[in-house]
Amino acid sequence: MNALQMAGWLRESAAVIRAEQVRLGQLDAAIGDGDHGANMTRGFDAVTQALDDHAGELAPGRILTSAGRAFSARAGGASGPLWGVALRRAGRSLGARELVSQHELADALQAARAGIVELGAAALEDKTMLDALAPAVDALYDAARREVSELDGAVAAARAAEAGARATIPMLARKGRAAYLGERSIGHQDPGATSVALVMRSLSTALNGRP
Ligand code: ADP
Ligand code: MG
Repeated sequence: MNALQMAGWLRESAAVIRAEQVRLGQLDAAIGDGDHGANMTRGFDAVTQALDDHAGELAPGRILTSAGRAFSARAGGASGPLWGVALRRAGRSLGARELVSQHELADALQAARAGIVELGAAALEDKTMLDALAPAVDALYDAARREVSELDGAVAAARAAEAGARATIPMLARKGRAAYLGERSIGHQDPGATSVALVMRSLSTALNGRP
């Protein structure tokens, strides 16, 4: 994966998050305060702006670091700092290398996951974005081990994230605003996990060369 593909992933993510903004807001309205679609759209708009400002100048990891700074500076809610730290940690993990292997991408997403845990102290099955990210990371490592194509790895990661997001429906929320609802959080898909699934799907779209 090169810088152009990394930028393409972020731009595709921004477009998909914007297109799904209302649904993300509805998911959050059911178990939170309804602002998740707006937070994510604001964050990814800032990322797009940062990409425009540094067009073509940066290595993949630098692109992620700059995206993380832009995201947390603009997006509010829990998502702003959580996505900010995730993108920055992923960027730091990749460093200045020009090309990113599937295994290095898995390491970067694993670093993002660790950053989210450090900041938000959530465990698996607490009904958060981690429940989509963790299986996606596992799927990417598995793809790297099997030496399948970058695109096949991304598709596997997207499927794993989508399954992870759906699996949050019966969970009881233990972190974030949804935790205030206790048992009433059961039966709704976590908005943050849903966003992660959209972003992982965007990776396969970007690598496929389709808009
Ligand atoms: P807020 O909850 O402040 O309104 P958002 O609505 O933008 O922020 O984001 C809510 C999402 O953030 C949740 O669906 C969940 O996935 C994620 N989240 C909340 N708290 C945590 C946490 N401590 N660790 C990981 N993810 C969290
Ligand atoms: Mg919210």
